[in-house]
Amino acid sequence: MTSAQTVRVAVPLFLPKLLDYVWQGTGAPSVGQVVVVEVGKQPVHGLVMAINMAAEVSKLKPATPLENTSIPAVMAKFYQWVSRYTLSSPGDPIRAAWGGKMLPERPEPVQQLVAGDAAQELKLTAKRQQVLALAGQGHSSVAALARQAKVSSGVVQGLLEAGALAWQEVPQHAPEFTLDLLPLNTDQKHAATTIAESLGQFKPFLLDGVTGSGKTEVYFASIAAAMAADEAAQTLVLVPEIALTPQWLQRFEARFGVAPHVWHSGVSAGEKRRTWWAVRDGVAKVVIGARSALFLPFNNLRLVVVDEEHDPSYKQEEGFRYHGRDMAVVLANHWQCPAVLASATPSLESWHNAQQGRYQHLVLQHRYGKAQLPSMALVDMRQATLAPGTFISPEVAKILADTLAAKQQSLVFLNRRGVAPLLLCAGCGHRWDCPDCSASLVVHGNRLTCHHCGFSEQYPEQCTACGEAELRVYGPGTRGLMQELSTLFPQARLAVADSDALASPAAMQELMDKITAGRVDIVVGTQMVAKGHHFPNLTTVAVIDADMGLAQGDIRAAERTFQLLTQVAGRAGRAAAAGQVLLQTHDPEHPLMQSLVRLDREGLYAQELDWRQQWGDPPFGRLAAVVVSGPDERMVAKTARQLAQAFVPAGEAFSLLGPAPAPLTKLRGQYRYRLLLKGQGALQNTVQAWLNGVVVPRSTRVVVDMDPQSFF
Ligand code: ADP
Ligand code: ZN
Repeated sequence: MTSAQTVRVAVPLFLPKLLDYVWQGTGAPSVGQVVVVEVGKQPVHGLVMAINMAAEVSKLKPATPLENTSIPAVMAKFYQWVSRYTLSSPGDPIRAAWGGKMLPERPEPVQQLVAGDAAQELKLTAKRQQVLALAGQGHSSVAALARQAKVSSGVVQGLLEAGALAWQEVPQHAPEFTLDLLPLNTDQKHAATTIAESLGQFKPFLLDGVTGSGKTEVYFASIAAAMAADEAAQTLVLVPEIALTPQWLQRFEARFGVAPHVWHSGVSAGEKRRTWWAVRDGVAKVVIGARSALFLPFNNLRLVVVDEEHDPSYKQEEGFRYHGRDMAVVLANHWQCPAVLASATPSLESWHNAQQGRYQHLVLQHRYGKAQLPSMALVDMRQATLAPGTFISPEVAKILADTLAAKQQSLVFLNRRGVAPLLLCAGCGHRWDCPDCSASLVVHGNRLTCHHCGFSEQYPEQCTACGEAELRVYGPGTRGLMQELSTLFPQARLAVADSDALASPAAMQELMDKITAGRVDIVVGTQMVAKGHHFPNLTTVAVIDADMGLAQGDIRAAERTFQLLTQVAGRAGRAAAAGQVLLQTHDPEHPLMQSLVRLDREGLYAQELDWRQQWGDPPFGRLAAVVVSGPDERMVAKTARQLAQAFVPAGEAFSLLGPAPAPLTKLRGQYRYRLLLKGQGALQNTVQAWLNGVVVPRSTRVVVDMDPQSFF
C-alpha cells in the first residue's frame, strides 16, 4: 500500500491561498487537472497546481478528478505566475477564463442526420430520395432537413423511425483555413520574416509603424507562418475591446477564409463556453480577444500578438488587477513562442525595452501605398476670440468649410481626457456633484452622469439650490458642438459618434457604414472613433481640446495624450487624399504640443524617459500602489497612517510615498487614501511582508495594485 498522494488546488473563490486535498483518482495526479473539492461544505471545481506538497495528510478532504478535464500544465503554471506577480488570489485567473466559479460545461456535441442502415431496404419514393440525398450534410433538426428537401417533417420523421435516417455526432475538427494574404512590401516582408524565423522560441518584438503602415498585414503573415510550421498551432491576438470591430473581423476572414474565435465582454456565456472548450481541445486555431483571453486553456500556443500594445485598457483596474500586455509577454515566455507587440505609438515601457535590445525593434517606416501622414498644426486658443459657449476657432471653421467645399469629410474630436461639459446655475453658480464620488456630474445628452461610478439623473428643470431657471453648460460636449456646427454649416450633414450614440455594435456599424458611404460630412466624435476605423474620404481632423486637461498625478499623462492624439490624427488622409490635422491648445509651447506638430516622437519619448529616470518611475523603478478604502473617512485615514508607520524601509531599495487622500477621494461612497511604494527588486515580497504585519480594521479594505496605471 503506497501512501496517499496529495494535491494543492486553486479554487475560483476569493481565497488568498492554495488548498491541500487527498487525491482520489485512479491514476497519478497531474498539474492542470480539474478536480471537485469541498470548500467549507460547498463543492467547487478547482485546478491542481502542485502535487504532494502537504505535510499532514490525515486531516485532508478528498479531491476527485473530473474525467477528461485537464488543461496543459503550462497554463496552470501561468495562472500561478500571474496571481503571484499581481498579489491576487490564485483563483483569479481561473475565474477570468471560466467566466465564473464553475468550469464551463462541455457543450453538447452537435448531432446531425445521416443515412441509416435501413436506407437500402425501404421503398424509396421521390420525396424520400430527396431527403436521403441531403443526409449527412450537417442538418441538426428534422425541420431543417425537411425544409431543405422541400418535404413535410412527417417524411423525415418516418425515415428516422424506419431506421433509414439516424443521428450522428458531427466530428469536431478545426475549420479549413484558405489563405489569401497580401503580397508584402519590403519593410513588411522583413518584419514578417524575422518573426517567422523566431517561431519555436520565446522572443518579444516591438512592431512599430505609423497608423496605416501595414502592421496588421504583417502579423496576419506571422499567423499564417505559425500555422504553416505547425498544423496544430494556436495564435492569440489581443486587442483593446473597442478595437474589435466588424471591419477587423471581415478583414481576417478575407485573408484566412474562416472567422477567428472571438472573446470579449459582449460575447454570450454559451459562446464563451464553446470557445473555452474549442481552445482547450485545440479546435480553435486563432483567438482574437480582449485581455482576459490570456487565460483561455491553450493547448499549443505558438504565437502571441498584442495590437495597440500601448492602450491603457489592457490594464484591468478592478478586482483582479493585471496588465494584459505585460502578462501576454509572460504567456509567450511560458509557451516559448514569439510575442509581437504592435503600435504606432508604443508605450514608454516597450519603447525602452526595444532601445535596450530586450525587445527586437521592427519598424515600418511609411504608410502603405501612396497614403501620406497628415500635416499637423496648432491653433493657439489664447489668441482666438470666441463667443461664450462656443469652442470652434476661426481657423478650424475655415478648414472645415474648405473640406466641405472639396466634398471631403472631417472629424471634430473631443478629447475626453480634457474638460468635460459641466452644468452650472447661472444664478448662484451651483454645480451638480455625484452623491457618491468627489466628482462633478457631466452633461450627457439629456442626463447628468458621473464618469466614475455611472450614477445618472435627469437634467434638472431649474437649479436645485436656488430655483433659478437658467442653467448653463460649461466646457465642450458633443451636443453643444453639434449645435455650433449646425449654425456654422447649416448645409452640412452631421453625425455624433460618442458612447451614448454608439451604445450598441449595431449602432456603431450603421454609423461606420454611413460615413464610408459618404452620407456624412462632419463627424463629432470622442475616443470611440479614435481606433481601427478606416474612412477613405476623411481628410480633416480638428481636435477641440488637445491639452492634457485633468491629468494631475498621472505620470503617463503626456505619453497618453500623445498616443491618443496621434491615433486620432491617423484617421485623416488614410487613402490617396492628403490629410490635415488642427490641434486647438491653450499651451502651444508645451513639449507635448511641439512634438506632435514636429512629428517628433523620439524627442518626446527621450524627454519623458529622462524625467522618469530622475524620479525612479517605470521603466526605471517599479511601483506598487496600496489603496485603503472604507465608508468612514477617519478610519480610512487612520488605517493608512498605520500602514505607513509599519513600513520598515529595507535600505535604499524602496521608498514609500503617502498616505494621501486619492485625487478622487470619494468613489462610490467609499473614501480612498493612497500609498505608493517605489523601488527596485523584489517588490512583491516587500509589499507582502509589510501588509501581513498590519491588522486592518474590518470596515476598511486594503487593495494592492502592482504596476499601477491609474493614480486616481
Ligand atoms: P496598421 O495596422 O499599421 O494601421 P494596416 O495593416 O491596417 O496598417 O494597413 C493599412 C491599409 O493598407 C489597410 O487597408 C491594408 O489592407 C493596406 N495594406 C497594408 N499592407 C498592404 C499590402 N502589402 N498590400 C496591399 N495593401 C496593404
Ligand atoms: Zn459617482
